[in-house]
Formats: sequence, C-alpha cells, structure tokens
Amino acid sequence: MTRVIREIREVREYVEMLKRNRFSLGFVPTMGALHDGHCSLMRQSFRENDRTAVSIYVNPLQFLPGEDFEKYPRQFECDLARCEEEKVDIVFAPTVAAMQPLGRSTVVKVEGVSHEYEGRVRPGHFDGVATVVSSLFNVVQPTRAYFGQKDYQQTVVLRRMVRDLHVPVDLVICPIVRDPDGLAMSSRNVYLSADDRAEALRLARAIVAGERAVQSGETSGDRLRAILRDAMSSPRADVTIDYADVVHPDTLVPIQSIESRAVLIAVLRVGRVRLLDNAIVAAPGAPSGGA
Ligand code: AMP
Repeated sequence: MTRVIREIREVREYVEMLKRNRFSLGFVPTMGALHDGHCSLMRQSFRENDRTAVSIYVNPLQFLPGEDFEKYPRQFECDLARCEEEKVDIVFAPTVAAMQPLGRSTVVKVEGVSHEYEGRVRPGHFDGVATVVSSLFNVVQPTRAYFGQKDYQQTVVLRRMVRDLHVPVDLVICPIVRDPDGLAMSSRNVYLSADDRAEALRLARAIVAGERAVQSGETSGDRLRAILRDAMSSPRADVTIDYADVVHPDTLVPIQSIESRAVLIAVLRVGRVRLLDNAIVAAPGAPSGGA
C-alpha cells in the first residue's frame, strides 16, 4: 500500500524510522501528471533501494509569470494509482503553503550552467528548481534521487548543486522514455493537437539524425547544428526552434569538434508548447556511456 503524506513532520518521522532500520531510500521528485517516463524512474529506484518515495508537487517557483502554472495538468487520484502499481512506499504531496515559508529569503542559485538554453528562455527557472529540490532533499533525506535525462540541463544544474553544497545524496540519471512514434514523453504533450504532434516529431527525428551523423563519423559542431536545424525547420509559422546545439556534457559549453562525448540538445516550440529533447553522443572510438 502506498502511503500518502502531506505534512513535512510526518515525512521526518518516516525517515527517522528508515534510519533506525538502516534502510536506503530512493526518491523521485515529480510535478505529477505521471507517465511512463516517471514510472521508469520509480522502477529504477525500486530495484536499487529498500524503500521508494515519490513527491508530487507543482512547484510555483519554477514557473515564470505567464507560464502554465495554473493550468499545469493535475490528476492526483490517477497519479496515486500509478504509484501503487509501481509499489511506491510513500507519496509526498505537500501543499504550496507547507513547502514555501512565508517571506522566503533563501534562493539556491547555480551559476554558470543555469544561464544558457532553458535558463535564457526561462530566466529564474533553475533557481526555482534548485531551491525546491534542495528543500525536498532536506525533508526526504534520500540515499539516491532519480532524475530523467529528458531534462538534461536540469541534471547538470542539480549535479553541480549537490557537488558544491556537499549534499549527501547520489543522483541517478535515467534514460529518456519515448512514445512508440519517438516523441519524448512529457506531461505537457497533452496540450498537443494531432497536427501539432506531427510537427513535434521533427524534434525526435532531428535528434536521431544527429546521432546517426555522429555514428557515421561527423564530429563538426557546426555541421551537426545544421543537421539538427534542417530536420527541425517547419513551414508552419508557429513552429520555431528555441535552440539546437552540440555541447559539452558537464559544462554545456558549445563544442566545435567532438573529441569524446557531447550532448545534442534541442527545443522546438509548437504553438504554445515547448518540447525538449537531447541525446548523449560519443565520437567513434571514444568511450560511450549514459548521463
Ligand atoms: P516533471 O514531473 O516533468 O518535473 O518530471 C519529473 C522527473 O521525471 C524529472 O526528473 C524528469 O526529467 C523525468 N522525466 C520526465 N519525462 C521523462 C521521460 N520522457 N523520460 C525519462 N524521464 C522523464
């Protein structure tokens, strides 16, 4: 049975019990509207830990004014059923009032890797992510925390935060889960019409084209950027490229020529929906490996 906890005090009591028993705890932070991508994180946690906790919290700090905070899909009962199927032990679903002290003065800001890409399009977004993830870590005190490679820059920002602040948690980055047509799963895909979805597939195809080019020996950053952009461009005026780049996996600095590993990162805007995708690539002969 999955236990739903809404109070921080109650999580602390649970965590104390785990510590007394020397049980490890895997933690999957989410904003709900759970899909198979989230479930893959839960499964990996289940395999690697004695207990698994999932948080469902639509974090207002990571939405900019005018973004979809109010209409972000919320479906708690359905999410809880999925957590039960995945044998999750704890669902922590706090209210905004519980998570956000009145007159909050503390912001966790990860300089450098937060600034470009998502950080440029959504200024302040990663401050919101890093702040709430550190609060959640302090409450849940997990042994391991699971994040999706789908939000690649987020994984880089959080790795830095954990390293810089000596947060005692192991971050585990899990592969991107895709629908059968190739589109990376996302809670926001429900906003796409059938026509939009056909456009959205340009992004997944662009990433595959980039991967294939690297496998065939292409190492030039500029040529790979051109391949991504060509595959993403659409005659529809409301389908636009936010960015398409080839970057260093740890620093996110654009790469001129791939010597070992790199990340293809791209965002396509289809109407009002922004779709993220990426792939970790390795130059032929270089050691490959996940995020
Ligand atoms: P969200 O609820 O969108 O904040 O996502 C919660 C976690 O699930 C984040 O670590 C995401 O990167 C991860 N996630 C979302 N979509 C996918 C996906 N398609 N494959 C793997 N992980 C995902």
